[in-house]
Amino acid sequence: MSENFINQKYVEDLLENAKFADNASISLSLDKAERGEPLSHSEIAALLVNENSEHLARIFEIAGQIKKRIYGNRIVMFAPLYVSDFCVNRCAYCNFNHNHDFNRRKLTMDELREEVKILEEMGHKRLAVEAGEHDGECPIDYILECIKTIYDMKFKNGEIRRVNINIAATTTENYRKLKNAGIGTYILFQETYHEPTYNSVHISGPKTDFAWHLNAFDRAQDAGIDDVGGGVLFGLANPYFDVLGLLLHNEHLEKKYNVGFHTISVPRLCPAEGMNINDFPNLVDDETFAKIVAIIRIAVPFTGMILSTRESHDMRKKLLRLGISQISAGSSTGVGGYAKRKSNEALTPQFTVNDDRSAVSIITELMDDGYIPSFCTACYRGGRTGDRFMSLAKSGQIGNVCLPNALMTLCEYSMDYGDNAFREKAAAIIEKEIPQIANETIRGKTIENVKKIRSGEGRDFFV
Ligand code: SAM
Repeated sequence: MSENFINQKYVEDLLENAKFADNASISLSLDKAERGEPLSHSEIAALLVNENSEHLARIFEIAGQIKKRIYGNRIVMFAPLYVSDFCVNRCAYCNFNHNHDFNRRKLTMDELREEVKILEEMGHKRLAVEAGEHDGECPIDYILECIKTIYDMKFKNGEIRRVNINIAATTTENYRKLKNAGIGTYILFQETYHEPTYNSVHISGPKTDFAWHLNAFDRAQDAGIDDVGGGVLFGLANPYFDVLGLLLHNEHLEKKYNVGFHTISVPRLCPAEGMNINDFPNLVDDETFAKIVAIIRIAVPFTGMILSTRESHDMRKKLLRLGISQISAGSSTGVGGYAKRKSNEALTPQFTVNDDRSAVSIITELMDDGYIPSFCTACYRGGRTGDRFMSLAKSGQIGNVCLPNALMTLCEYSMDYGDNAFREKAAAIIEKEIPQIANETIRGKTIENVKKIRSGEGRDFFV
């Protein structure tokens, strides 16, 4: 039974009333946020619509503090892997739109292995498998075969250790199959929670069913997938409406399943073939986008936030400080894109990326900026998913787990993929950060494991 737990009128009223919030009440809300107290819907709405530069400066400051307190300076790395661009839907924003005429394809298992090999050569351990919706060309069995092929591959430097899945909303039965295949997070963007906009940009195909799409995570949870990742495509509807929609969706899942979103993605509309970006009246400018990221960070401190290469280098740098905890690097957004890039062949991407630097240059720059690039996949492999992960995060124990795992995986990455200069940089970060591990036993174990990784005596350590 589909439920519509996004009351459109309620969200519109929140935004309308928020215009009347005065400076004093906004300051009080920000004091609460600074003390780590949860904010009400109307307080968040007031922060969103406010344009006062002093409040804005405080929003950025508080978001930065929360980010530092909960996530330290760790940034989890991943890459998307497009396996099929066949699609039965007509979505006004997407190049995979059924009506667009291009040479569509899905990867054969040999081609998939080639893509995974290239991604592994970049050092990736965590992938997000992406596909258009087409039950004929890309049925669930094909996706399951892809997952199995990826997990079965072993390389000199290890293997892909976590496969997240971003495919169209499907049935409980199919979610159960994905669960049994050992996926990490099931990711699905609502695109927009504003129903009239949703209906206007989804022109035909199964994705036109707002309620079916909205209830996808309920079905995934019913099937046992307890790490689900939400998101909206900023640029379609009023972005403030969509932030409140995300929060209501998160609360619905918390109430019903005891755990909300594992991650929230914040994709922003990019130009794509077959669409004109100027036809979209709600594009979000950089300043508003930064405000949105900061407010999401304040509203749901323990939910990871994912940013892709849709954003430029400068924007990514800024947003990392405000709340982003996971980024992609070296990405291609087309089927077979990694092999094609290697052989300089043309590609039909889903949309154009804005940060096309190589993975290693992104990772190096993260270290130069004081971050710890992390290739950790431990929680999922140790069974810490869903509410087990959330209670770890909320108890503050995350520092004793995520920090050592980040340092050990960075050490492994530097030995496997780095040159001498890279290894020295990574070593300096590891030495500096090890004393921050509060638990003495875990600190000792980390020192021991780093030595083993460096001498080649062991690898793939995690706590
Ligand atoms: N077909 C699946 C579905 O229906 O959810 C998988 C999604 S697709 C591979 C990944 C996401 O790319 C979409 O959910 C959409 O938000 C995003 N996307 C599509 N066109 C885009 C564009 N022009 N700019 C930025 N993101 C876009």
